[in-house]
Amino acid sequence: MIITKKKEPSLILEYLDGRKKVYLFGCNSCAEQCQTGGKRELDEMTVILRENGKEITGTSLIDETCYKMLVKKEFKANEAIMSSDAILVLACGAGVKTVAEIAENSTPVFPALDSLFLASVERYGRFFEGCSLCGECILGSTAGICPHTLCPKGLLNGPCGGVINGRCEVNIENNCVWVDIFRRLKAQDRLNVLKKIHPPKDYSNGVKPRKVILERKKTRA
Ligand code: SF4
Ligand code: SF4
Repeated sequence: MIITKKKEPSLILEYLDGRKKVYLFGCNSCAEQCQTGGKRELDEMTVILRENGKEITGTSLIDETCYKMLVKKEFKANEAIMSSDAILVLACGAGVKTVAEIAENSTPVFPALDSLFLASVERYGRFFEGCSLCGECILGSTAGICPHTLCPKGLLNGPCGGVINGRCEVNIENNCVWVDIFRRLKAQDRLNVLKKIHPPKDYSNGVKPRKVILERKKTRA
């Protein structure tokens, strides 16, 4: 899940300066769960903007605002979107980009949120970063725990010299990730995998923008 946080209303009002009619997009997926872009947040944003003299021309809560076909459908079904002076998107950056691509050069699109990280969800409202999308996953030899993400120094071959009683010297409230990796591998009787030396990350795998194009699978007759 993509974790987002709300931008300050003052910054949003700065974006919308000189623009009266505003259309709002939310996202009923990640942003809804982050309490940043669901129905309640659309209603809250409507109140804030109205109090500041804006006219809300409409709101759309898309199942996944990063999904171009869904957003396109909304644009087609709703003329108010394109006749607005601005579109404000309560979704992650991918959602904002998707809406902006469809609005093209006509109506400016602004973000209401900051996108933070890709999270594992412990349970509702408890999100923890676990993967930095590096493009060459080493979890097979680190017991499913990512040192690239969870060690503040990104160390791939064991701990630094700063471990304090099993804790991380950078974030003392956290375990050193390498202590966790060691303990889990030991419990699994797999400590031998620690002998494997991981080369430095190949950052060419992460050259942006990345894309994946899948061939549509043929269905059997
Ligand atoms: S090594 Fe870590 S950052 Fe890279 S893909 Fe695996 S979990 Fe994600
Ligand atoms: S103590 Fe462990 S988690 Fe913290 S920086 Fe050193 S190796 Fe990384």
